[in-house]
Amino acid sequence: MHAFSSLALPAPFLANLASLGYQEMTAIQAAGLPAVLSGRDLIAQAKTGSGKTATFGIGLLQKLNPRYFGIQALVLCPTRELADQVANELRRLARHLDNVKVLTLCGGVPMGPQIGSLEHGAHIVVGTPGRIQDHLYRQTLDLSHIGTLVLDEADRMVDMGFVDDIGRIVEACPARRQTLLFSATYPDSIRRIAAPFLRDPLEIKVESQH
Ligand code: ADP
Ligand code: MG
Repeated sequence: MHAFSSLALPAPFLANLASLGYQEMTAIQAAGLPAVLSGRDLIAQAKTGSGKTATFGIGLLQKLNPRYFGIQALVLCPTRELADQVANELRRLARHLDNVKVLTLCGGVPMGPQIGSLEHGAHIVVGTPGRIQDHLYRQTLDLSHIGTLVLDEADRMVDMGFVDDIGRIVEACPARRQTLLFSATYPDSIRRIAAPFLRDPLEIKVESQH
């Protein structure tokens, strides 16, 4: 058994996890979180429902400075539906922190309101690669203060043709950052694409769900 309380997290963070019903870590959380919290890059292969969101969410929130109102973490997801799910889970995981702003940026909706939201500021952006790249191109999104970059469901993003967008987004992030990659499958094609984005990553593979 791996209790969240075995992690070096502040008491309010642990209390919030307990209030969400998070007592024991899932297998991927137990294998990945110590490395993530130490600042290491991670490649994690695990299927749906294994608790990947908290594996990167706890890591990026623990590093976040809520008093600095700039984008410190970027999570790339293949679809709007997944981006919304991740953003909502991050908001729940951040309840012990003061006013952490999580903004979703996905395609299929007008740019104007998103640009307005970006002008108001955010701590965390969750979005799809095409729309994030659009904002970079228009210079409406500043990724120069990103400390954590997450590629969620990387295999699906590659299947959907987002490789070039992801490459340009990674280039706009600081070289000095933590990169966390999650994928249900990890074929050689994704390994080759991912290699330049990660530095000495811990690679973990979890077969069972818990
Ligand atoms: P994945 O991204 O691997 O598909 P999620 O991160 O979406 O999985 O988690 C699946 C569900 O399990 C979510 O409802 C989440 O709140 C819940 N969950 C994740 N980790 C834990 C945990 N340690 N204890 C209890 N519930 C958890
Ligand atoms: Mg997920």
